[in-house]
Amino acid sequence: MNIGVLALQGDVREHLAALAGSDVLARPVRRPSELDDVDALVIPGGESTTMSNLAITFGLLDPIRKRIADGMPVYGSCAGMIMLATTVLDGRPDQESFAGIDMTVRRNAFGRQIDSFEAPVRIEDVEGDDFHAVFIRAPWVEHTGPGVRVLGRVTEGPAAGRIVAVRQGNLLATAFHPELTGDLRVHRYFVELVRQAQDAR
Ligand code: GLN
Repeated sequence: MNIGVLALQGDVREHLAALAGSDVLARPVRRPSELDDVDALVIPGGESTTMSNLAITFGLLDPIRKRIADGMPVYGSCAGMIMLATTVLDGRPDQESFAGIDMTVRRNAFGRQIDSFEAPVRIEDVEGDDFHAVFIRAPWVEHTGPGVRVLGRVTEGPAAGRIVAVRQGNLLATAFHPELTGDLRVHRYFVELVRQAQDAR
């Protein structure tokens, strides 16, 4: 199984480590030819406006859109979630996304006073305790289309009820960063998703 981590910007190393911990040797993807060599992609946390600019500069915007349309599994965390949204609120006017998940996300939604915080999140399909989720200038999901499954919400605190994990087909997104906390359950869930997508081919 060849999983790539989009390595234009953001916490690439942490995702590579989380995938290694999930028994997958993942590789960084910076060029279209490297994208051709992977079966699935992780889009890291970082800064979605910068990632959008770099995706255009590196000639990856349209190739990734095309792979997504062809069914490639993708997991995006935080900025990666924004990059997977069809509609982005509070983005820059020229900000592009790979789209794919029929949802509206709001950038930096939790407010400046609480730029970074931790909160418990329950994720459907993932067994065990709530996630101890880390949010850093995170988006939330304001609207989902009919094909999108809400997988996770904040369970406690001021942000309780906010949608922070979704799935549409082979596309998975979280507003938080499991790659920063050593809890590998989301990455393992994604690896299993990739395996099932390959079996279905
Ligand atoms: N606020 C960032 C953005 O708009 C996302 C932050 C993150 O990935 N931690 O892209």
